[in-house]
Amino acid sequence: MPTTCWIKNPQAIFTANQEDARGGVVIQNDKIIELVALGKQPNSHVDVIEDASDLVMLPGLINTHHHFYQTLTRAWAPVVNQPLFPWLKTLYPVWAKLTPEALSLACDVALAELLLSGCTTTTDHHYLFPTGMEDAIDVQVDSVKRMGMRALLTRGSMSLGEDEGGLPPRHTVQTGDEILKDSERLIKTYHQRGEGAWMQIALAPCSPFSVTREIMADSAKLAEAEDVRLHTHLAETLDEENFCLKMFGMRTVDYLESVGWLSDRTWLAHGIHFNQDEIQRLGAAGTGICHCPVSNMRLASGMCPTLELIDAGSPIGLGVDGSASNDASNMMYEARQALYLQRLKYGAEKITPEKVLGWATKGSASLIGRTDIGEIALGKQADFAFFKLDELRFSGSHDPISALLLCGAEKAEHVMVGGKWRVREGEIIGVDTQALMARHRKVAAQLVS
Ligand SMILES: [Zn+2]
Repeated sequence: MPTTCWIKNPQAIFTANQEDARGGVVIQNDKIIELVALGKQPNSHVDVIEDASDLVMLPGLINTHHHFYQTLTRAWAPVVNQPLFPWLKTLYPVWAKLTPEALSLACDVALAELLLSGCTTTTDHHYLFPTGMEDAIDVQVDSVKRMGMRALLTRGSMSLGEDEGGLPPRHTVQTGDEILKDSERLIKTYHQRGEGAWMQIALAPCSPFSVTREIMADSAKLAEAEDVRLHTHLAETLDEENFCLKMFGMRTVDYLESVGWLSDRTWLAHGIHFNQDEIQRLGAAGTGICHCPVSNMRLASGMCPTLELIDAGSPIGLGVDGSASNDASNMMYEARQALYLQRLKYGAEKITPEKVLGWATKGSASLIGRTDIGEIALGKQADFAFFKLDELRFSGSHDPISALLLCGAEKAEHVMVGGKWRVREGEIIGVDTQALMARHRKVAAQLVS
Protein backbone atom coordinates (compact mmCIF):
# COMPACT_ATOMS: atom_id res chain seq x y z
CA MET A 1 0.00 0.00 0.00
CA PRO A 2 1.65 3.29 -1.03
CA THR A 3 1.91 5.84 1.76
CA THR A 4 0.78 9.40 1.17
CA CYS A 5 2.02 12.30 3.27
CA TRP A 6 0.69 15.87 3.39
CA ILE A 7 3.46 18.31 4.22
CA LYS A 8 0.96 20.79 5.59
CA ASN A 9 0.85 24.59 5.59
CA PRO A 10 4.51 25.62 5.42
CA GLN A 11 5.32 29.02 6.93
CA ALA A 12 6.46 29.93 3.39
CA ILE A 13 7.23 27.98 0.24
CA PHE A 14 9.38 28.72 -2.82
CA THR A 15 8.32 26.44 -5.68
CA ALA A 16 10.66 27.80 -8.44
CA ASN A 17 7.50 28.32 -10.56
CA GLN A 18 4.13 30.12 -10.43
CA GLU A 19 2.17 27.33 -8.69
CA ASP A 20 0.30 28.00 -5.45
CA ALA A 21 1.45 25.40 -2.92
CA ARG A 22 0.99 27.56 0.16
CA GLY A 23 -1.20 24.84 1.72
CA GLY A 24 1.66 22.40 1.20
CA VAL A 25 2.20 19.32 -0.95
CA VAL A 26 1.04 15.73 -0.88
CA ILE A 27 3.65 13.14 -1.73
CA GLN A 28 3.30 9.45 -2.48
CA ASN A 29 6.49 7.40 -2.19
CA ASP A 30 9.10 9.43 -4.08
CA LYS A 31 6.81 11.87 -5.96
CA ILE A 32 4.66 14.95 -5.52
CA ILE A 33 1.07 13.97 -6.31
CA GLU A 34 -0.78 17.17 -5.30
CA LEU A 35 -0.10 20.84 -4.61
CA VAL A 36 -2.43 22.34 -2.02
CA ALA A 37 -3.38 26.02 -2.47
CA LEU A 38 -3.56 28.49 0.41
CA GLY A 39 -6.35 27.60 2.88
CA LYS A 40 -7.34 24.42 0.97
CA GLN A 41 -7.44 20.76 1.97
CA PRO A 42 -5.92 18.02 -0.22
CA ASN A 43 -8.18 16.08 -2.58
CA SER A 44 -5.96 13.01 -2.22
CA HIS A 45 -6.34 10.51 0.60
CA VAL A 46 -3.66 11.32 3.19
CA ASP A 47 -2.11 8.68 5.48
CA VAL A 48 0.34 10.91 7.35
CA ILE A 49 0.39 14.65 8.10
CA GLU A 50 3.67 16.50 8.61
CA ASP A 51 3.03 19.92 10.14
CA ALA A 52 5.32 22.46 8.41
CA SER A 53 3.86 25.65 9.92
CA ASP A 54 7.20 26.70 11.40
CA LEU A 55 9.24 25.71 8.33
CA VAL A 56 10.28 27.49 5.13
CA MET A 57 10.18 24.98 2.28
CA LEU A 58 12.34 24.93 -0.86
CA PRO A 59 12.94 22.42 -3.64
CA GLY A 60 16.12 20.49 -2.76
CA LEU A 61 19.10 22.61 -3.84
CA ILE A 62 21.27 21.35 -6.73
CA ASN A 63 25.02 21.88 -6.77
CA THR A 64 26.45 21.84 -10.30
CA HIS A 65 30.19 22.16 -9.72
CA HIS A 66 32.49 20.77 -7.04
CA HIS A 67 35.70 18.86 -6.35
CA PHE A 68 34.94 16.85 -3.20
CA TYR A 69 38.56 15.79 -2.66
CA GLN A 70 39.54 19.41 -2.01
CA THR A 71 37.92 19.36 1.45
CA LEU A 72 41.33 17.94 2.49
CA THR A 73 43.19 21.12 1.48
CA ARG A 74 40.94 23.90 2.77
CA ALA A 75 42.55 27.11 3.97
CA TRP A 76 46.05 25.71 3.39
CA ALA A 77 48.46 28.56 4.11
CA PRO A 78 50.67 28.33 0.97
CA VAL A 79 47.69 29.01 -1.34
CA VAL A 80 45.48 31.26 0.73
CA ASN A 81 46.47 34.37 -1.23
CA GLN A 82 47.12 32.96 -4.70
CA PRO A 83 45.18 33.32 -7.97
CA LEU A 84 44.22 30.26 -10.05
CA PHE A 85 47.40 29.21 -11.91
CA PRO A 86 49.91 29.45 -9.03
CA TRP A 87 47.20 28.10 -6.69
CA LEU A 88 46.87 25.01 -8.92
CA LYS A 89 50.62 24.54 -9.41
CA THR A 90 51.22 24.59 -5.65
CA LEU A 91 48.35 22.17 -4.96
CA TYR A 92 48.89 19.56 -7.75
CA PRO A 93 51.78 17.75 -5.93
CA VAL A 94 49.73 17.61 -2.71
CA TRP A 95 46.65 16.27 -4.48
CA ALA A 96 48.79 13.68 -6.29
CA LYS A 97 49.25 11.95 -2.89
CA LEU A 98 45.51 11.25 -2.61
CA THR A 99 44.56 7.70 -1.57
CA PRO A 100 41.19 5.91 -1.93
CA GLU A 101 40.65 6.17 1.85
CA ALA A 102 41.37 9.91 1.84
CA LEU A 103 39.04 10.44 -1.13
CA SER A 104 36.28 8.47 0.54
CA LEU A 105 36.49 10.62 3.69
CA ALA A 106 36.68 13.81 1.62
CA CYS A 107 33.54 12.82 -0.28
CA ASP A 108 31.66 11.98 2.90
CA VAL A 109 32.56 15.37 4.41
CA ALA A 110 31.63 17.34 1.27
CA LEU A 111 28.34 15.48 0.88
CA ALA A 112 27.47 15.87 4.56
CA GLU A 113 28.07 19.62 4.34
CA LEU A 114 26.01 19.91 1.17
CA LEU A 115 23.14 17.86 2.57
CA LEU A 116 23.01 19.91 5.76
CA SER A 117 22.81 23.08 3.67
CA GLY A 118 19.66 21.77 1.93
CA CYS A 119 21.30 20.23 -1.13
CA THR A 120 19.70 17.02 -2.41
CA THR A 121 21.48 16.57 -5.77
CA THR A 122 25.12 17.30 -6.45
CA THR A 123 27.65 16.93 -9.19
CA ASP A 124 31.34 16.36 -8.65
CA HIS A 125 34.22 16.94 -11.03
CA HIS A 126 36.97 14.46 -10.17
CA TYR A 127 39.99 14.58 -12.48
CA LEU A 128 42.81 13.08 -10.37
CA PHE A 129 43.67 9.47 -11.14
CA PRO A 130 47.30 8.99 -10.01
CA THR A 131 48.59 5.41 -9.60
CA GLY A 132 46.44 3.60 -7.03
CA MET A 133 43.49 5.93 -7.63
CA GLU A 134 42.19 4.37 -10.85
CA ASP A 135 38.86 3.58 -9.16
CA ALA A 136 38.27 7.09 -7.82
CA ILE A 137 34.76 7.40 -9.26
CA ASP A 138 33.77 4.02 -7.78
CA VAL A 139 34.88 5.33 -4.38
CA GLN A 140 32.70 8.40 -4.94
CA VAL A 141 29.67 6.30 -5.91
CA ASP A 142 29.91 4.40 -2.59
CA SER A 143 30.07 7.67 -0.67
CA VAL A 144 27.03 9.15 -2.43
CA LYS A 145 25.03 5.98 -1.71
CA ARG A 146 26.01 6.14 1.98
CA MET A 147 24.69 9.69 2.20
CA GLY A 148 21.45 8.90 0.33
CA MET A 149 21.73 11.79 -2.12
CA ARG A 150 21.38 12.05 -5.89
CA ALA A 151 24.55 12.67 -7.85
CA LEU A 152 25.89 13.25 -11.31
CA LEU A 153 29.55 12.28 -11.03
CA THR A 154 31.66 13.63 -13.84
CA ARG A 155 34.60 11.53 -15.00
CA GLY A 156 37.24 14.21 -15.17
CA SER A 157 40.58 13.87 -16.88
CA MET A 158 43.97 15.48 -17.35
CA SER A 159 46.09 14.47 -20.35
CA LEU A 160 48.29 17.49 -21.11
CA GLY A 161 51.33 17.32 -18.83
CA GLU A 162 53.81 20.09 -18.12
CA ASP A 163 56.28 18.54 -20.57
CA GLU A 164 53.74 19.09 -23.40
CA GLY A 165 52.94 22.66 -22.45
CA GLY A 166 50.11 21.93 -20.01
CA LEU A 167 49.81 22.97 -16.37
CA PRO A 168 49.64 19.67 -14.38
CA PRO A 169 52.75 17.60 -13.57
CA ARG A 170 53.29 14.49 -15.74
CA HIS A 171 52.52 11.95 -12.95
CA THR A 172 48.99 13.33 -12.53
CA VAL A 173 47.94 12.87 -16.18
CA GLN A 174 46.58 9.82 -18.03
CA THR A 175 46.60 8.79 -21.69
CA GLY A 176 43.56 9.33 -23.90
CA ASP A 177 42.98 5.57 -24.14
CA GLU A 178 42.95 5.10 -20.36
CA ILE A 179 40.53 8.00 -19.95
CA LEU A 180 38.06 6.87 -22.63
CA LYS A 181 38.09 3.22 -21.56
CA ASP A 182 37.33 4.13 -17.95
CA SER A 183 34.66 6.62 -19.06
CA GLU A 184 32.86 3.88 -21.00
CA ARG A 185 33.11 1.48 -18.06
CA LEU A 186 31.65 4.03 -15.65
CA ILE A 187 28.72 4.89 -17.92
CA LYS A 188 27.90 1.19 -18.38
CA THR A 189 28.22 0.41 -14.67
CA TYR A 190 26.54 3.39 -13.02
CA HIS A 191 24.62 5.70 -15.35
CA GLN A 192 20.87 5.59 -14.67
CA ARG A 193 18.47 7.05 -17.20
CA GLY A 194 14.99 8.51 -16.86
CA GLU A 195 12.86 9.94 -14.09
CA GLY A 196 14.03 9.68 -10.50
CA ALA A 197 17.63 8.69 -11.35
CA TRP A 198 19.92 8.59 -8.29
CA MET A 199 23.28 8.13 -10.00
CA GLN A 200 24.49 9.51 -13.30
CA ILE A 201 27.84 9.90 -15.06
CA ALA A 202 29.06 12.72 -17.33
CA LEU A 203 32.38 13.26 -19.15
CA ALA A 204 34.55 16.12 -17.95
CA PRO A 205 38.05 16.82 -19.29
CA CYS A 206 39.41 19.22 -16.68
CA SER A 207 40.16 22.46 -18.54
CA PRO A 208 41.81 23.73 -21.76
CA PHE A 209 45.15 24.00 -19.98
CA SER A 210 45.21 20.41 -18.69
CA VAL A 211 43.90 18.27 -21.56
CA THR A 212 44.73 17.69 -25.23
CA ARG A 213 42.43 18.74 -28.07
CA GLU A 214 42.03 15.04 -28.89
CA ILE A 215 40.55 14.11 -25.52
CA MET A 216 38.09 17.05 -25.75
CA ALA A 217 36.94 15.93 -29.22
CA ASP A 218 36.84 12.22 -28.33
CA SER A 219 34.88 12.93 -25.13
CA ALA A 220 32.28 14.89 -27.13
CA LYS A 221 31.88 11.96 -29.54
CA LEU A 222 31.58 9.42 -26.72
CA ALA A 223 29.07 11.62 -24.86
CA GLU A 224 26.92 11.81 -27.96
CA ALA A 225 27.13 8.07 -28.62
CA GLU A 226 26.25 7.24 -24.98
CA ASP A 227 23.85 10.17 -24.52
CA VAL A 228 25.52 11.57 -21.42
CA ARG A 229 26.40 15.17 -20.56
CA LEU A 230 29.66 17.10 -20.97
CA HIS A 231 31.26 19.35 -18.39
CA THR A 232 34.46 21.38 -18.08
CA HIS A 233 35.94 24.58 -16.65
CA LEU A 234 35.88 27.44 -19.16
CA ALA A 235 36.65 31.16 -19.26
CA GLU A 236 37.51 31.23 -15.56
CA THR A 237 40.53 33.54 -15.74
CA LEU A 238 42.41 35.76 -18.19
CA ASP A 239 45.44 33.48 -17.72
CA GLU A 240 43.35 30.70 -19.27
CA GLU A 241 42.32 32.94 -22.18
CA ASN A 242 45.99 33.80 -22.82
CA PHE A 243 46.90 30.11 -22.61
CA CYS A 244 44.30 29.25 -25.29
CA LEU A 245 45.51 32.04 -27.56
CA LYS A 246 49.11 30.86 -27.23
CA MET A 247 48.53 27.09 -27.30
CA PHE A 248 45.61 26.78 -29.74
CA GLY A 249 45.67 30.17 -31.47
CA MET A 250 42.09 30.90 -30.49
CA ARG A 251 39.89 32.23 -27.69
CA THR A 252 38.12 29.86 -25.29
CA VAL A 253 34.70 29.68 -26.99
CA ASP A 254 36.30 29.19 -30.44
CA TYR A 255 38.30 26.36 -28.89
CA LEU A 256 35.13 24.89 -27.36
CA GLU A 257 33.39 24.99 -30.73
CA SER A 258 36.41 23.55 -32.57
CA VAL A 259 36.31 20.39 -30.41
CA GLY A 260 32.54 19.86 -30.80
CA TRP A 261 31.42 21.10 -27.40
CA LEU A 262 29.26 24.13 -28.25
CA SER A 263 25.89 22.44 -27.58
CA ASP A 264 23.11 22.02 -25.04
CA ARG A 265 24.75 18.78 -23.88
CA THR A 266 27.49 20.91 -22.27
CA TRP A 267 27.56 22.89 -19.05
CA LEU A 268 30.56 24.98 -18.10
CA ALA A 269 31.92 25.94 -14.70
CA HIS A 270 32.57 29.69 -14.16
CA GLY A 271 31.98 31.22 -17.62
CA ILE A 272 33.36 34.67 -16.82
CA HIS A 273 35.53 36.03 -19.62
CA PHE A 274 33.20 36.05 -22.64
CA ASN A 275 32.71 38.87 -25.17
CA GLN A 276 29.25 39.77 -26.52
CA ASP A 277 29.60 37.61 -29.62
CA GLU A 278 30.62 34.60 -27.50
CA ILE A 279 27.65 35.10 -25.15
CA GLN A 280 25.30 35.06 -28.16
CA ARG A 281 26.87 31.87 -29.52
CA LEU A 282 26.72 30.09 -26.15
CA GLY A 283 23.09 31.17 -25.73
CA ALA A 284 22.09 30.07 -29.24
CA ALA A 285 23.63 26.66 -28.55
CA GLY A 286 21.87 26.41 -25.16
CA THR A 287 25.16 25.74 -23.37
CA GLY A 288 24.65 25.98 -19.59
CA ILE A 289 26.81 27.99 -17.20
CA CYS A 290 27.43 27.14 -13.55
CA HIS A 291 28.04 30.35 -11.61
CA CYS A 292 30.51 29.85 -8.71
CA PRO A 293 30.53 33.23 -6.96
CA VAL A 294 32.60 32.37 -3.87
CA SER A 295 35.39 30.67 -5.82
CA ASN A 296 35.41 33.56 -8.30
CA MET A 297 35.82 36.06 -5.45
CA ARG A 298 38.29 33.85 -3.52
CA LEU A 299 40.65 33.56 -6.53
CA ALA A 300 39.73 37.06 -7.81
CA SER A 301 38.80 35.52 -11.19
CA GLY A 302 35.98 37.92 -12.18
CA MET A 303 32.17 38.08 -12.40
CA CYS A 304 29.98 35.81 -14.53
CA PRO A 305 27.72 37.81 -16.91
CA THR A 306 24.64 35.87 -15.77
CA LEU A 307 21.86 38.13 -17.08
CA GLU A 308 23.42 38.54 -20.54
CA LEU A 309 23.84 34.76 -20.77
CA ILE A 310 20.19 34.18 -19.74
CA ASP A 311 18.98 36.76 -22.29
CA ALA A 312 21.01 34.99 -24.96
CA GLY A 313 19.47 31.60 -24.06
CA SER A 314 21.93 29.91 -21.68
CA PRO A 315 20.55 28.34 -18.49
CA ILE A 316 22.33 29.42 -15.29
CA GLY A 317 22.88 27.24 -12.22
CA LEU A 318 24.95 27.51 -9.05
CA GLY A 319 27.97 25.59 -7.80
CA VAL A 320 30.11 25.79 -4.68
CA ASP A 321 33.26 24.74 -6.62
CA GLY A 322 36.09 22.91 -4.91
CA SER A 323 36.62 23.25 -1.22
CA ALA A 324 40.16 24.56 -1.69
CA SER A 325 38.79 27.65 -3.45
CA ASN A 326 35.66 28.40 -1.44
CA ASP A 327 36.38 26.84 1.20
CA ALA A 328 32.89 25.67 2.13
CA SER A 329 30.40 23.26 0.54
CA ASN A 330 27.29 25.15 1.55
CA MET A 331 24.67 25.89 -1.11
CA MET A 332 22.87 28.49 1.01
CA TYR A 333 26.11 30.46 1.50
CA GLU A 334 26.64 30.20 -2.23
CA ALA A 335 23.17 31.52 -3.05
CA ARG A 336 23.69 34.44 -0.65
CA GLN A 337 27.01 35.33 -2.26
CA ALA A 338 25.50 35.01 -5.75
CA LEU A 339 22.83 37.52 -4.72
CA TYR A 340 25.40 40.05 -3.53
CA LEU A 341 28.05 39.58 -6.22
CA GLN A 342 25.49 39.80 -9.02
CA ARG A 343 23.91 42.90 -7.43
CA LEU A 344 27.29 44.61 -7.75
CA LYS A 345 27.15 43.91 -11.48
CA TYR A 346 23.46 44.45 -12.27
CA GLY A 347 21.94 46.45 -9.41
CA ALA A 348 19.58 45.52 -6.58
CA GLU A 349 16.29 45.53 -8.55
CA LYS A 350 17.35 42.91 -11.08
CA ILE A 351 18.87 40.33 -8.73
CA THR A 352 16.19 39.15 -6.29
CA PRO A 353 16.39 36.35 -3.70
CA GLU A 354 13.82 34.44 -5.78
CA LYS A 355 15.94 34.73 -8.93
CA VAL A 356 19.01 33.36 -7.15
CA LEU A 357 17.06 30.55 -5.46
CA GLY A 358 15.76 29.73 -8.97
CA TRP A 359 19.38 29.35 -10.16
CA ALA A 360 20.14 27.04 -7.20
CA THR A 361 17.17 24.79 -8.05
CA LYS A 362 15.46 24.83 -11.45
CA GLY A 363 18.42 26.47 -13.20
CA SER A 364 20.88 23.93 -11.84
CA ALA A 365 18.52 21.09 -12.82
CA SER A 366 18.52 22.25 -16.44
CA LEU A 367 22.35 22.34 -16.51
CA ILE A 368 22.42 18.63 -15.73
CA GLY A 369 19.55 17.81 -18.09
CA ARG A 370 16.97 17.00 -15.42
CA THR A 371 13.27 17.95 -15.60
CA ASP A 372 12.15 15.75 -12.67
CA ILE A 373 13.89 17.75 -9.93
CA GLY A 374 14.59 21.42 -9.10
CA GLU A 375 11.01 22.63 -8.54
CA ILE A 376 7.92 21.90 -6.50
CA ALA A 377 5.30 20.83 -9.04
CA LEU A 378 3.00 17.91 -9.83
CA GLY A 379 4.86 14.72 -10.72
CA LYS A 380 8.29 16.02 -9.66
CA GLN A 381 10.49 14.11 -7.24
CA ALA A 382 9.91 14.69 -3.51
CA ASP A 383 13.25 16.43 -2.89
CA PHE A 384 12.87 19.27 -0.34
CA ALA A 385 14.87 21.43 2.05
CA PHE A 386 13.18 22.89 5.15
CA PHE A 387 14.56 25.79 7.18
CA LYS A 388 13.52 27.02 10.63
CA LEU A 389 13.83 30.74 11.28
CA ASP A 390 14.32 30.38 15.02
CA GLU A 391 17.91 31.60 15.41
CA LEU A 392 19.09 35.04 16.50
CA ARG A 393 20.02 35.96 12.95
CA PHE A 394 16.37 35.74 11.83
CA SER A 395 14.81 37.55 14.80
CA GLY A 396 12.78 40.52 13.57
CA SER A 397 12.74 39.35 9.93
CA HIS A 398 9.48 39.65 7.97
CA ASP A 399 9.55 38.01 4.55
CA PRO A 400 10.65 34.39 5.19
CA ILE A 401 12.00 33.62 1.69
CA SER A 402 14.11 36.79 1.59
CA ALA A 403 15.22 36.15 5.18
CA LEU A 404 16.85 32.87 4.13
CA LEU A 405 19.40 34.74 2.01
CA LEU A 406 19.48 38.17 3.62
CA CYS A 407 19.83 36.91 7.21
CA GLY A 408 22.11 34.09 6.09
CA ALA A 409 20.44 30.68 6.58
CA GLU A 410 23.17 28.08 6.54
CA LYS A 411 21.73 24.91 7.98
CA ALA A 412 18.56 23.06 7.03
CA GLU A 413 16.28 21.73 9.75
CA HIS A 414 15.06 18.80 7.64
CA VAL A 415 15.98 17.49 4.18
CA MET A 416 14.03 14.94 2.13
CA VAL A 417 15.43 13.15 -0.93
CA GLY A 418 13.09 11.05 -3.09
CA GLY A 419 10.46 10.93 -0.32
CA LYS A 420 12.98 9.77 2.32
CA TRP A 421 14.14 11.88 5.25
CA ARG A 422 17.92 12.31 5.15
CA VAL A 423 18.21 15.17 7.68
CA ARG A 424 15.96 15.49 10.74
CA GLU A 425 16.30 18.33 13.24
CA GLY A 426 19.64 19.34 11.79
CA GLU A 427 21.24 15.88 11.96
CA ILE A 428 22.02 13.52 9.09
CA ILE A 429 20.30 10.21 9.68
CA GLY A 430 22.79 7.37 10.20
CA VAL A 431 25.95 9.51 10.03
CA ASP A 432 28.22 10.22 12.99
CA THR A 433 29.60 13.59 11.85
CA GLN A 434 31.96 13.94 14.83
CA ALA A 435 33.64 10.60 14.08
CA LEU A 436 33.77 11.44 10.37
CA MET A 437 35.47 14.78 11.08
CA ALA A 438 38.06 13.15 13.37
CA ARG A 439 39.13 10.71 10.62
CA HIS A 440 39.00 13.38 7.90
CA ARG A 441 41.14 15.84 9.89
CA LYS A 442 43.80 13.17 10.43
CA VAL A 443 44.03 12.35 6.71
CA ALA A 444 44.05 16.05 5.78
CA ALA A 445 47.01 16.65 8.09
CA GLN A 446 48.91 13.68 6.62
CA LEU A 447 48.34 14.91 3.06
CA VAL A 448 50.15 18.24 3.54
CA SER A 449 52.89 16.89 5.86
ZN1 LIG B 1 36.31 23.74 -10.38
